[in-house]
Amino acid sequence: MTGIRFDSVSVAYHGNTVLDSLDLTVEPGEVMALLGPSGSGKTTALRAVAGFVRPVAGRVLIGGRDVTDLPPHRRGIGMVVQQYALFPHLKVAENVAFGLRAQKAPKAGIPARVAEVLELTGMAAYAGRYPRELSGGQQQRVAIARALAIRPGVLLLDEPLSALDATLRSGMLAELARLHRELPEVSILYVTHDQVEALTLADRIAVMDRARLQDCGTPQDLYRRPSTEFTASFVGQANLLPVSVAEDGVRFAGRELVLDTGRAAPGAGATLCVRPHVLGLGEGPNALRGKITEVQWRGSTHRLYVDVDGHRVTAELPELRETPALGDEVTLHFAPQDAVLLAAGAGDG
Ligand code: ADP
Repeated sequence: MTGIRFDSVSVAYHGNTVLDSLDLTVEPGEVMALLGPSGSGKTTALRAVAGFVRPVAGRVLIGGRDVTDLPPHRRGIGMVVQQYALFPHLKVAENVAFGLRAQKAPKAGIPARVAEVLELTGMAAYAGRYPRELSGGQQQRVAIARALAIRPGVLLLDEPLSALDATLRSGMLAELARLHRELPEVSILYVTHDQVEALTLADRIAVMDRARLQDCGTPQDLYRRPSTEFTASFVGQANLLPVSVAEDGVRFAGRELVLDTGRAAPGAGATLCVRPHVLGLGEGPNALRGKITEVQWRGSTHRLYVDVDGHRVTAELPELRETPALGDEVTLHFAPQDAVLLAAGAGDG
């Protein structure tokens, strides 16, 4: 079984640090998503594992072995990028066989292995076609088959679904989850800026921003207990409300709140993270009163935007019988265990 370890890995281009001392371990068989906005260093981290960029500091380990100085083809990895990158002049089967030939795998075993991975990715019927005769989704399946052909311990996926349209993307997402169930020993590092992909596929998510790892945890942990404002707003939607913390409690807009959390020191300013869907309409603990500034009907839910003391609060409510009107006064509330207090300054580094 093969895991990946980043040991204080830094990468710089022309003296500009784009990956700053990354420490991260992907356990054998784990799916780790690298999630973050464009330019945060995700692809660079992946390329450091693949061997396409050389860290200026730190080490990359695959299966416990330091591979920092190994060329890409000797690292035992499979890689799939956004733009399929199939060879246009080779048929599907030849594309898939390419890595095996490059590795000088015994010739006699190649056709069987090619058939096996094409079967695995649902492309067995297309072995004799050229890439141009396939849809985008099919081409991406071939790219995945090609990456898996060499039986890599590590699979690197760089935005593999972003060139596909929305319907295909959700189908491929389910397909990738199935593939991982069938190949539980393969560790997957999955670069994406799409939180739905990360939440759906990953065992853990590493949140990146501005060349640094900001947070790492299971999707549930990051969603329910984010440790920074950046994570709170990047993983799911969040109302981030400035609160003041004193010995006797937490206040927002001059009102006392009842919370379960105790991360911030008394006296400090802090931010309260309340997810839109935990808000209820009507009186309750932790009441937030304000005027409705926008109403969106979204089929199964109503989304209300409410101005509470100058702060915009978003509430996602199960579909209401009567659509509230703009300008209506409403009260929202949330349970003490449904909010997280983030210490001031968290996420600013
Ligand atoms: P992400 O994958 O999160 O979008 P990248 O790792 O691709 O981010 O890029 C991180 C930063 O490094 C960006 O500012 C990008 O412009 C820069 N960068 C990436 N590749 C190169 C390169 N080959 N030469 C110079 N700068 C690069």
